[in-house]
Amino acid sequence: MINGEQRISRPLRWGMVGGGRTGQVGYKHRSGALRDGTYRLVCGAFDLDEARGRDFGVNLGVAAERCYADVQALIQGEAGRADGVEVVSVATPNFTHYEITKALLQAGIHVICEKPLFFSVTECEEIAALARDKGLIVGVTYGFTGHPLVHQMAAMVKKGLLGDIRLVDMAYTHGFNAGDDTGAGEAVKWRTNPRTAGPTFVLGDIGTHLYYLSEVVLPQLKVERLLCDRKAFIPTRAPLEDHATVLMHYDNGARGRLWVSSVDAGNMGSQRYRFVGSKASVSWSDAHPDQLHYEVQGEPGRVLHHGMPYLEDESLAADRMGALHTEGLGDSWANIYLWIAQAIDARQRGDEAFLATHHYPDIQAGLEGVRWLENCVRSADAGAAWVDFR
Ligand code: NAD
Repeated sequence: MINGEQRISRPLRWGMVGGGRTGQVGYKHRSGALRDGTYRLVCGAFDLDEARGRDFGVNLGVAAERCYADVQALIQGEAGRADGVEVVSVATPNFTHYEITKALLQAGIHVICEKPLFFSVTECEEIAALARDKGLIVGVTYGFTGHPLVHQMAAMVKKGLLGDIRLVDMAYTHGFNAGDDTGAGEAVKWRTNPRTAGPTFVLGDIGTHLYYLSEVVLPQLKVERLLCDRKAFIPTRAPLEDHATVLMHYDNGARGRLWVSSVDAGNMGSQRYRFVGSKASVSWSDAHPDQLHYEVQGEPGRVLHHGMPYLEDESLAADRMGALHTEGLGDSWANIYLWIAQAIDARQRGDEAFLATHHYPDIQAGLEGVRWLENCVRSADAGAAWVDFR
């Protein structure tokens, strides 16, 4: 159980690029990072608007002189300080991730970056090599995979409780873009423009969460082939999609079906996962993250609750609130941030043995998400053809 006791020797000096006052995801980063005293927010280039960014940073308790205009100013300003920043989170629109991450790594600063990580696998490989050369950690904020019951599913699969995995069924849909983009805010504008979003809209925006969570639950399964059909129901979003269906063949013979959409009118946003094996299945949704449906063929279904002693150790180790009380998205993000902090701490101590077995969403996880997107686009652009995964 996680109870706020320190797992690393001292708080990491932490900064943010993006995630300013008007940013959608910024507070999730801060609520995750600042929960346990594992990080201390010391600086930021929070906003494209310098004055608003400084005002915001000061309101967060950051010294005015450490609220910078942009990432370059942050790197320069922090470089000369004995108490300079050690790790920076990147919570900016997709098209900026690569340049900002590269600049931070070159300056010797660990990075925690948003998904989808970059635009191409080639960029991911280049940055992975840079991080390796510099001995730095890159974490990726797949923020839903800190939920304790995600790790319960992974542990049950590993123990063989489901039998051989046959079906992987995943959906992340909402209706917030069901109408057209007249009068849309910045966050919709950059998401629907290939120059700023990258090669996909909903596949990258929400589909990468599904794909990564399935990798956490089923690390031994690899996609061999896939078929992706994507469409812009609002034509101004083309060539990007606001809706997509992906079929997948896995190397053990399992079949996968994944649906992502931002035009699922009336849906307030939910992720649904069902993993089916030869003996049993598990179903989980982030709408009810404290409950896991476990159904053994021929037996009455069971609902497992987070924090209960009958759960696997891996799940209980990620629990914060205990069984009687609800556990939510903020707790999940706090776990992700804690696990990344432990990776940074281990790297700083030179504890490679710890790193070899420590699990967190790392740059390889970010790269695999981008690889999956590239394959989806290749299939969709070929007219929803089956393509070999590469
Ligand atoms: P947003 O448009 O709402 O906010 C972007 C923020 O970054 C704003 O504060 C803006 O002023 C600032 N900004 C933009 N360019 C900047 C730059 N060059 N330097 C400094 N600040 C800059 O975007 P958002 O919805 O918060 O998304 C940001 C990123 O987070 C995207 O990559 C998105 O895919 C990702 N995201 C992830 C999750 C998740 O669950 N992990 C959820 C939402 C968004």
